[in-house]
Amino acid sequence: MPYELPALPYALDALEPWIDARTVEIHYGKHHQTYLSNTNKALEAHPELFAFSIEDLLRDLNRVPEAIRTAVKNNGGGVYNHNIYWQGLGPNCGGEPVGKLAEAIQTTFGDFTTFKAEFEKAGLTRFGSGYAWLSRRADGSLLIHSTANQDCPLSEGLYPILTVDVWEHAYYLKYQNRRAEYLSIWWNLVNWKQADERFTHGK
Ligand code: MN
Repeated sequence: MPYELPALPYALDALEPWIDARTVEIHYGKHHQTYLSNTNKALEAHPELFAFSIEDLLRDLNRVPEAIRTAVKNNGGGVYNHNIYWQGLGPNCGGEPVGKLAEAIQTTFGDFTTFKAEFEKAGLTRFGSGYAWLSRRADGSLLIHSTANQDCPLSEGLYPILTVDVWEHAYYLKYQNRRAEYLSIWWNLVNWKQADERFTHGK
């Protein structure tokens, strides 16, 4: 069975005024959808792989035949990374971290202001296209890092908690080349409850 695109967990205009409805419409409806279509297309020659989730394939790309491995890495990564991006945002969100994640952020980074500065720096210094991430290592500890293109933390043995997409398509209509401004307003949309859920219970 082909993979399906998860529904956007809110309306297209729910992230206004920080992220405009037109950007969400194109980002979700065109970019995210295209990664999904291309993943399904790549697997047409190896339909037995549909028995695995996209997460499983990204965790162990060696199980994907070499002829379609790059296509799965790029497009499957594009599907999963956007899933995490959309899930991590919402209307009436923002504020400060909650729960066990709040404690872990404080222990690891000192305070929320320092954490935010490090996270924004990861997004700002990612050359070209990619993502900044807050991820959990296998030992349960946290790290801030970035990935290029649609590379996925799962392929590095990391479990993603939260991400900001820094491809230009994520912000260009409203912020043009001002990636730093997009990174600074993005905090108004972070769904900390969802991030804590991933940190505490996600596998
Ligand atoms: Mn994107």
